[in-house]
Amino acid sequence: YPIERIRNFAIIAHVDHGKSTLADRMLQVTELVSERDMRAQYLDKMDIERERGITIKAQAVRMPYKSKDGGEYLLNLIDTPGHVDFSYEVSRAMNACEGAILLVDAAQGMEAQTIANLYLAIDAGLEVIPVLNKIDLPAARPEEVAKEICALLGGEPEDILKVSAKTGIGVPEVLEQVVDRVPPPSGDPEAPTQALIFDSIFDAYRGVIVYARVVQGRMHPGEKIRMMATEFEGVIDELGVTSPEAIPINELGPGEVGYLTAAIKGVGEAKVGDTITLAGKHAAPSPLPGYREPTPMVFSGLYPVDSADFPDLRDALDKLQLNDASFNFEPETSVALGFGFRAGFLGLLHMEIISERLDREFNIPLVTTAPNVAYTVTLNSGEVLKVSNPADLPDPNQIDHIEEPMVDAMIYLPSEYVGAVMQLCEKRRGTMLKMDYLTEERVELRYRLPLAEIVFDFFDRLKSSTRGYASLDYEPADMQVANLVKVDVLLNGEPVDAFSSIVHRDKAYEYGKAMVSKLKELIPRQMFDVPIQAAIGSKIISRETVKARRKDVLAKCYGGDISRKRKLLEKQKEGKKKMKAVGMVEIPQEAFVAALSLG
Ligand code: GDP
Ligand code: MG
Repeated sequence: YPIERIRNFAIIAHVDHGKSTLADRMLQVTELVSERDMRAQYLDKMDIERERGITIKAQAVRMPYKSKDGGEYLLNLIDTPGHVDFSYEVSRAMNACEGAILLVDAAQGMEAQTIANLYLAIDAGLEVIPVLNKIDLPAARPEEVAKEICALLGGEPEDILKVSAKTGIGVPEVLEQVVDRVPPPSGDPEAPTQALIFDSIFDAYRGVIVYARVVQGRMHPGEKIRMMATEFEGVIDELGVTSPEAIPINELGPGEVGYLTAAIKGVGEAKVGDTITLAGKHAAPSPLPGYREPTPMVFSGLYPVDSADFPDLRDALDKLQLNDASFNFEPETSVALGFGFRAGFLGLLHMEIISERLDREFNIPLVTTAPNVAYTVTLNSGEVLKVSNPADLPDPNQIDHIEEPMVDAMIYLPSEYVGAVMQLCEKRRGTMLKMDYLTEERVELRYRLPLAEIVFDFFDRLKSSTRGYASLDYEPADMQVANLVKVDVLLNGEPVDAFSSIVHRDKAYEYGKAMVSKLKELIPRQMFDVPIQAAIGSKIISRETVKARRKDVLAKCYGGDISRKRKLLEKQKEGKKKMKAVGMVEIPQEAFVAALSLG
């Protein structure tokens, strides 16, 4: 295929607006997949993606397409992850394209994520083709939503394509527009090779498979390549394209999208955003712009319920990391929970995905502590520390000041809820940056907020104060000094480090009180009274007591026969899955994340 016949495009959409379904239809329209072989979400390969209906990894598929005027084209669809946690991956995938389909659910309308992704597309210089989906739904309001889109993008509402990815109506017209409007790639085939990595996945049999877009130069099997950021060097074993199964080929040139293997052991050696060039004297002098190290934003402790599982947990984390370079972990010891790991994630969804995979694929029952952010702490001595575990915060007397990570949040909502959302953001220590009425009914609000406040159920609050109509997207901003203190929780007089939390001083009392009463609800009665206290330093700020239970299964067996006692205990175990004994107190998993449901 000559380069003028190539079209590289992405589909950007809010979760559930139909991206995967549209990709499925395109595979059928281009006759890559027959009716018989079709299964829903063909490109979503991980079980967890299919089940949750989200795309976690970007995928690329090459579709030969004969246009209505008889021209033969090569369409490369790059399916991007839709979630905010992965916006860096989305931006890299977009840089591998010349065009983007902006897919909007005609019943739901635009969402914050749609707009955030649209801005990424515009930043990447892409030709944007807006498309309204789900017009088969009775609740669809294509005219209204088309107006909203035009308020943002310009153009005439009647020119916007209206399709149903479910029934296939309008899908061929989308492909026609891709051919007509998305510019072909350009790039000098003789220049030093530069290819942009937009995804890499780990395969147990073949090692890492790297997905890349060649920007200039060429690649061939047998050539020695170099990753410019990680400095990995290796020989290309297999070069190929996905169409929709892997097909080996002999060359990838400018504008082409494909995959390669090169005995790469972990995805950490082929990171998203890195530039592939040839090793040695044909190397490109500089990498493509835009590479960034993945930065974990949210941290949590991962502890095996059964401490004998610790080595297995380490193995499992090592294996997951082979497949996910954006997640990191280091061993950590908790007085309460024993040996475990502190893991860093891109965001809350990322965290959920990893813990779910640990549970599902490795079957290791875990206690996960409430997520927190990483603070920069400057001591009186001038020493600067990064604190990603609240329990590690030094004594307040040693601290000069603490900085916390901020985010720029974009909230998109119907205008009637503006008041409620402003109130919420203010309560969460937000500062308004901007308020735009895109239409009379639709508002885009921008706030700078502490990430810690978003981690604490901000999204749920936002949804409940707008009856589900607001949507949220955010990106990291700077670090800011804040008046923060550590609130400890004591059970039975003993501080439980896994319950410590860093909160704003103005909210510390309220937080301590809420945490203590929540724990009182969650901690089952024991054989003795368990006092629960919240404290700042040595000062107790709140207190409750879990009263001893009157009748106990074990009480009857005291001095009795051991095996009967054991049987009873076994039975009890069923009911308290994931309970963790801390000192003499049995604590259920929910208690460790209790802080998340306060408010
Ligand atoms: P994604 O999260 O953007 O990939 O969205 P999916 O493709 O997974 O679609 C989300 C849900 O919307 C699924 O239940 C689809 O069956 C449904 N859906 C997608 N397109 C259409 C459409 O055109 N009409 C209707 N009625 N449902 C659709
Ligand atoms: Mg999807």
